[in-house]
Amino acid sequence: MSRGPRILIVEDEEPLSVLLRYNLESEGYAVEIVPRGDEAEIRLRESLPDLLLLDWMLPGVSGIELCRRLRQREETKSLPIILLTARGEESERVRGLATGADDYVVKPFSIPELMARVGALLRRVAPNRVASLLKAGDLEVDRESYRVRRSGTDLHLGPTEFRLLEFMMERPGRVFSRAQLLDGVWGADSEIDERTVDVHVGRLRKALHRQGASDPIRTVRGAGYAFDERF
Ligand code: CA
Repeated sequence: MSRGPRILIVEDEEPLSVLLRYNLESEGYAVEIVPRGDEAEIRLRESLPDLLLLDWMLPGVSGIELCRRLRQREETKSLPIILLTARGEESERVRGLATGADDYVVKPFSIPELMARVGALLRRVAPNRVASLLKAGDLEVDRESYRVRRSGTDLHLGPTEFRLLEFMMERPGRVFSRAQLLDGVWGADSEIDERTVDVHVGRLRKALHRQGASDPIRTVRGAGYAFDERF
């Protein structure tokens, strides 16, 4: 499983979605494809990607209608969305943006241009998802070299604890339920029990612990865990 930002492609033209998947995966993104608007709506209730590539004309529910519905829901109202529109729909692009898409590209588009737009949108809305160095307080996570330091001292984390820390630090302050952590760190299809999340959070805390230093991970009773920006 790729550790990169997760992108959901909603596109019914298979040659195009396959081409997009190939190019996005080679840049380190984790990609999932859904060919119908109604399927995408269901999928997005189960698991949220970091960015949505949404075709305008889709079977089931159209891209424009799906975009409108997503903007009305609390969980998806700020989900980054790039609309893919056909040439004939170009005149309607204002409507696309008015519906809440963050950006749009007109088919046929160049793959490098789309890649650049995906990268630009993620840097704008979720800079921590694409940064190679995450920092908070005295803690530093270098995701290129897999090193974690606290006050300049190297800490030793297992691969799962590393991924867990990375996942929470990308979204500081946000409270994650055990189910959301399972989905984001282990993947939606994992067979792992929610109690396993507690075990790994415990190990992560232990690995991060320094005498006299505060715990960056906050337990929110009845809700889950959060990484505090200021700890
Ligand atoms: Ca289409």
